[in-house]
Amino acid sequence: MRVLFVASELFPFVKVGGLGDVMAALPRAMRVLGADVRLLIPAYPELRAAVRVTGEATPLPALMGGGPARLLPAEADGLPLYLLDQPAFFGRPGNPYDHPADLPHRFAALAWAAAHLGRAGAADGWRPALLHGHDWPAGLMPAYVTYGEGPRPATVMTIHNIAFQGRFASSLLEPLGLPAASFTPEGVEFHGDIGFLKAGLKLADRICTVSPTYAREIQQAGGHGLEGLLAHRNGHLQGILNGVDRTVWNPATDPHLVSRYDLKHPSRRLPNRPDFQHRLGLEEGAAAPLFVAISRLDPLKGLDLVLDNVDHLVARGAQLAVIGTGDPHAEGAFRQAAQRHPGRVAAFIGYDEALAHRAFAAADVILVPSRQEPCGLTQLYAQAYGALPLVRRTGGLADTVVGVTPGTLADGSATGFQFDAPTGWALGEAINDALDLFQDGAAWRQVQRQGMAARFGWEGPARTYLELYGTIPGER
Ligand code: ADP
Repeated sequence: MRVLFVASELFPFVKVGGLGDVMAALPRAMRVLGADVRLLIPAYPELRAAVRVTGEATPLPALMGGGPARLLPAEADGLPLYLLDQPAFFGRPGNPYDHPADLPHRFAALAWAAAHLGRAGAADGWRPALLHGHDWPAGLMPAYVTYGEGPRPATVMTIHNIAFQGRFASSLLEPLGLPAASFTPEGVEFHGDIGFLKAGLKLADRICTVSPTYAREIQQAGGHGLEGLLAHRNGHLQGILNGVDRTVWNPATDPHLVSRYDLKHPSRRLPNRPDFQHRLGLEEGAAAPLFVAISRLDPLKGLDLVLDNVDHLVARGAQLAVIGTGDPHAEGAFRQAAQRHPGRVAAFIGYDEALAHRAFAAADVILVPSRQEPCGLTQLYAQAYGALPLVRRTGGLADTVVGVTPGTLADGSATGFQFDAPTGWALGEAINDALDLFQDGAAWRQVQRQGMAARFGWEGPARTYLELYGTIPGER
């Protein structure tokens, strides 16, 4: 089966969040199962510099007023790519969502190129039977398929985060090559604007999101305005959990760690802690439980609840490290907290992949207090690395962490801590639970082992996606 993924991020070249990780892992896992999955992605300079172009270019029209455009077949570590090479839109390095002036044009061009590949195929003769778009940057793909001419490939949209929807002025209808007839509630119109994600969710054959709980939440209060549409399409909406890419996130092979370890050699985890503490300017030693948050600093991530608990953590003898970047107010508040508590609280404001790996190997607890979390990856990495996740019971966090209770401790199923209310007080209570368990070394190690033994691989999700494709009527 020939499938084209359409997305704006690909780890390790261009990654803003979990989407980049998923694009690196899921298509490869589906290829292992025999599906011919390829990825259409803009030819960002970071990608052009790193990957090998493998064949003949497919000429395209000057899409969305962005000048010359073409598709280049390429390959990244065994994953076949089609790069949308349009320098006026994608020639700048850095965050792919910067430069708001031409943001809609850029990703409309990506979506149009996807639909074109589905209809006409590439110069190398490859034509996908199914187009699978990811998040709002691919949202217009089903619209260009629906309103275009020629054969109609099947379409699927996955929502990785419904908070980002790509909503733009209706005056762009013509510049983006959308027919006037598409500007209805049944098409691309969304409250008087053009809704990229909305269009994709309305027009795709199937909709996925990245956990069963999030699939329910976005039909209720958590849909950011798309609840009604999603509830209406309930029969065609499915939640499929993300997995962990064990070639990247495995403490037994992780090149970033000073000491590698696995379930059978847990004591080899210990040297990672003073190394991490030293790097962040925290007091070295094993006595103080080490709490870490690794996150975009975005209101939905709930890091303000951690800020509410800084003094509480320090008063209880714990250490806190925050690795994150984003909201300048939150960045400043964590910097100040670190200044207030030198040696006890550290703030690394920035993005550092290697430091994140070291943090998972050093932490006792990974804090994930998200207000909303479609799937979340950090609580999965925490488990793989023997840190206990402490999460709010929402979205994928609810589906992937078994909270410590007397019952789950007794039956050995506990893998972390959970709390419900999005308040500093509720997080503080869960922190107290973690601190209490920390005093009981044997119980702590049991929970740690249970998490490390959990298998959040990609094979299962990859199979489920292929089964979902099979439910779409048509010859493929
Ligand atoms: P989201 O996609 O909403 O940002 P996820 O938990 O799905 O959240 O994925 C976050 C990914 O980004 C994880 O791989 C995490 O380790 C990484 N990450 C987030 N912030 C940083 C940072 N400041 N430095 C390094 N890695 C980070």
